[in-house]
Amino acid sequence: MARTVVTGGAGFLGSHMCEALLDRGDQVVCVDNLVTGRSSNVAHLSERDGFEFLQVDVSEKLDVDGPVDSVMHLASPASPVDFDRIPIEIMQVGSYGTHLGLELARKKQAVFHLNSTSEVYGDPLVHPQPETYWGNVNPIGPRSVYDEAKRFAEALTMAFHRTHDLDVRIVRTFNTYGPRMRPDDGRVVSNFIVQALQGEPLTMYGDGSQSRSFCYVDDQIDGQLALLDSGYVGPVNIGNPNEFTVRELADKVIEATNSSSTVEFLPLPKDDPTQRKPDLTIARRELGWEPSVQLAEGIERTAAHFAAELNL
Ligand code: UDP
Repeated sequence: MARTVVTGGAGFLGSHMCEALLDRGDQVVCVDNLVTGRSSNVAHLSERDGFEFLQVDVSEKLDVDGPVDSVMHLASPASPVDFDRIPIEIMQVGSYGTHLGLELARKKQAVFHLNSTSEVYGDPLVHPQPETYWGNVNPIGPRSVYDEAKRFAEALTMAFHRTHDLDVRIVRTFNTYGPRMRPDDGRVVSNFIVQALQGEPLTMYGDGSQSRSFCYVDDQIDGQLALLDSGYVGPVNIGNPNEFTVRELADKVIEATNSSSTVEFLPLPKDDPTQRKPDLTIARRELGWEPSVQLAEGIERTAAHFAAELNL
């Protein structure tokens, strides 16, 4: 039976990862400092065989007793709202946290799996983005705390691979959404759905012509587990290639929730990427993976979750 450490395991993505690993029979050590993660995200896992929770800040220490087969480093605040609120913590978990995760994997002779991000492409000048694109990142702008932390994390992961022959994986995610996002997370899908359910205006930044490619969390987890099991060092884009403008997203959310909300236009944040869409050639070829949940269905499932959580 495999034993996997999931940092950020009580977060949005991490909690789904812990659950999927348990479902396939793995043992899980969920590590989280609960800065943006929530114990309620994993409360339903606490009684399951093979699940352990450690409340630890992985930027400070990461000691796990016993054998470990994989270390999956998912810990990091990921909303642009957090980039302003806790920038130094984000840089710490991307640097010190990644280093401690790599050292743990090295000590245990485990696979190290890094959750990186399409933010390493910055405001991309190549579209869609293949893994070979080096990106267009402002190194000192407000988003740099996340973008550069993840770029550093990728570089450190590859340095451990080359220097210590550590078995590593790097995944680049593209706007993952779904149940267990925080309602006040600040990202566009959660904001729009909660606003639509409450009949509030949808807060559209800029004119809404910027695009994103939104990936439902179940697809994301399937792709990441396929990568973990594959032996492919990476990096690999995992995302949904169907691209929507933010304006189109607003229309879909209003339709899916049957809402009477209007749209309110607010200033576009600095360095907000104009477009983003994954080139999935490597994921298809190396993993045989393809996303299957389309946006309208994903919005409906996510809206049902928020409606239940917020009693709407
Ligand atoms: N956005 C928006 N309204 C919101 C939150 C975000 O129009 O309430 C926009 C944001 O400016 C960006 C896109 O939606 O262009 C995606 O933003 P998000 O924060 O979800 O992710 P990221 O910018 O990191 O892709």
